[in-house]
Amino acid sequence: MILQCGHLTTTKRRVDIIGAGISGLASAWFLARRRSDVEIHVWEPSPEPGGLAGCFHVDGLTLENFYHHIYRRDVALQKLIDAAGLAGDLVWRPASTGAYYFKRPYRFSSPIDLLRFDQLPLIDRFRAGWMVLHARFIRDWQSLDDESAPSYIRRVAGENVYRVMWEPLLRGKFGSAADSVSAAWLWRKLVDRGASRDSRGNELLGYLRGGLIRLFDVLVAHLAANGHVVHFGTRVTALEGSSTRVDRIDTTDGAHDADVVIAAAQLPDIARLLPESLAPLRERLERIEFLANVCLVMLLRKSLSDFYWTNVTDPSAPFVGVIEQSHWAAPEDLAGHHVVYVSAYVPQDDPRLQMTADELFETYLPHIQRLFPQFDRSNVTRLLIRTARYTQPIVRTGYRHLVPDIATPAENLFICTMAQIYPHDRQVSNGVEMGEKTAALVDRYLG
Ligand SMILES: Cc1cc2nc3c(=O)[nH]c(=O)nc-3n(C[C@H](O)[C@H](O)[C@H](O)COP(=O)(O)OP(=O)(O)OC[C@H]3O[C@@H](n4cnc5c(N)ncnc54)[C@H](O)[C@@H]3O)c2cc1C
Repeated sequence: MILQCGHLTTTKRRVDIIGAGISGLASAWFLARRRSDVEIHVWEPSPEPGGLAGCFHVDGLTLENFYHHIYRRDVALQKLIDAAGLAGDLVWRPASTGAYYFKRPYRFSSPIDLLRFDQLPLIDRFRAGWMVLHARFIRDWQSLDDESAPSYIRRVAGENVYRVMWEPLLRGKFGSAADSVSAAWLWRKLVDRGASRDSRGNELLGYLRGGLIRLFDVLVAHLAANGHVVHFGTRVTALEGSSTRVDRIDTTDGAHDADVVIAAAQLPDIARLLPESLAPLRERLERIEFLANVCLVMLLRKSLSDFYWTNVTDPSAPFVGVIEQSHWAAPEDLAGHHVVYVSAYVPQDDPRLQMTADELFETYLPHIQRLFPQFDRSNVTRLLIRTARYTQPIVRTGYRHLVPDIATPAENLFICTMAQIYPHDRQVSNGVEMGEKTAALVDRYLG
């Protein structure tokens, strides 16, 4: 494409972005703001933007594929929501967290709740609280990355706190990898989450009315209005080139010469696209393993649990969290439905990834009824299933050494994914920050 610029005639350079999740769209948004001499093409196989944070529509409701909340510390996302003109629809509401121990509900929404937790001796309740406080004063996260989360918890809070409170959560999320999860990941999560508490220690979490899809739609519209293109329903199938440069991008809609490529899909998807000449990079990306996620989404007539977020501590339960959106979001935002996500992180070969919503429900029903004895199937008005393969990198000790840089050995290929956000957890907001950093690097590369 030719751009007239005063007396000069310059050629617009092409930037191809793989994936219209937050990482891809944020990269596009920030790059478009930095430069007027690029033509951005975002490629996305789905018909809608958003990736893991995208939405689906059911019974007049727009629901997120997976449950999302925003922390106070998620400043980059809040700024982007503001820049998109949606700040008025960012709602902050108190969120209750709890867990059931031997069918008894325990609230864990404030420090007082922790002191009331009689499954632990009083001294251990203090130690559990101390661990959260202590985390705020840690500066050297690199050395924590060489220690496992179980060892760190035992060291700071003791064996009881680990066994009763933390082990079920780590095992529920990371399964057999729980013992090797890095303490740096846990530490950062404690600090970021802790910052969402008000002066009395109660947690306030944010959401965008109508779902994050509204933000993604604004980003896409903004790109289109500035001469860029988001190609929905189109997959990138391969990158061609040498060990130092990507020359061509192949898509289901044809091939194009490449000036700059930003790969913003998940690492295993990116690895599959790389040419043989970039085999060392591919092997490096393949060293990071991912857990998949399966969510049973239930629309109910009546509330299920006592909390917004219920941590499931029963080791025999096949899920780790029960997230009742309607205990947190304003009722008018859910059109009066009780919306519950039953979430499980699973290995890539887990049979649940192939199940229908009805099959998953039947598998889960005895466990749901054990946790919530009053639950009856007649309470259900709708069942849905949401699955995704690459939802959580397995952050083992030393993960910092595996994280790929944004810049790659191919000078015009950049990688921007949630697996690089470390030691932060993969919050959408951190994806916005990654997108901004990537846009700055691409800007510098373009000169
Ligand atoms: C269960 C769950 C709960 C979560 N809860 C929260 C939360 O409460 N708060 C929060 O902030 N974050 C949360 N997250 C994390 C958040 O959803 C992700 O970190 C974020 O959405 C990742 O964005 P991304 O753009 O990096 O990746 P993705 O959203 O995975 O986007 C990658 C995109 O690349 C596309 N793609 C793949 N292959 C190709 C190809 N060959 N060609 C073109 N495109 C391709 C995909 O279709 C996808 O749209 C949660 C995630 C999960 C799974």
